[in-house]
Amino acid sequence: MTNKKLVEEAPYHPGYEDVVIGDKDYKEGYLGDAIRFRMKREGKRFWAGDNISDYLHKGDKEILITEATEAFEAVLDRLLIDRENDPNSKGTARRLAKMYFNEIMGGRYDPAPDATAFPNDSADRYEGMLVVRSELRSMCSHHHQPVVGVAYIGIIAAEKLIGLSKYTRIAQWCARRGTLQEELCNDIAREIQKATGATDLGVYIQATHGCCENRGIMAHSSLTQTTVLKGAFKDDLGTKKEFMDNIKMQQEFSPR
Ligand SMILES: [Zn+2]
Repeated sequence: MTNKKLVEEAPYHPGYEDVVIGDKDYKEGYLGDAIRFRMKREGKRFWAGDNISDYLHKGDKEILITEATEAFEAVLDRLLIDRENDPNSKGTARRLAKMYFNEIMGGRYDPAPDATAFPNDSADRYEGMLVVRSELRSMCSHHHQPVVGVAYIGIIAAEKLIGLSKYTRIAQWCARRGTLQEELCNDIAREIQKATGATDLGVYIQATHGCCENRGIMAHSSLTQTTVLKGAFKDDLGTKKEFMDNIKMQQEFSPR
């Protein structure tokens, strides 16, 4: 099956017309390859943890899902799984493709969640610490195994505030990619900084890793902790302690 027809039906893609068809690995007719080569040409990094939503147009995701379905069908064939007669394996290739694009890697293809900020600059502005607990589902980029855990995001309120659910939306948008926990911690800190303008903040993540539980070392109760601290969270021992104490209180309220 060729996807040429699908690509021709796709909306106009400015910038793709000069993709060099003769380039190594470029498969004519694949929208995914046209996008990939455009990113290469423009020096845009597209690692598993990078957001590439700027390079997608409306309707592209559906085409990319169809192209990935074809690729997953080939994987199932190579694994010698009878996807034609096994009722449980029929449609699995498409389910996998949809799951990658819409769920487990959705944060690569979707733009940042809208986090409208409200001013916090009146005389009785909130000046305290705010700690939000966000449940995370991520995936390690090495093994494509689930990473499951919680992030505790702490800030000292700056000149603007965002809605409480936005902290979790931002954290989940960062998590729904192929990541390393260390990078994820940095990504969440950077995006929260961008959305709130806060320069004093901390992000603590604790998570279990499928790649340690389901394969390799098979350690079923291991837990990985990472912490990123900025501004007062890093330099002021009192602030750091308040953040860590808040995390402990949150964990008593909800252990995992
Ligand atoms: Zn891994």
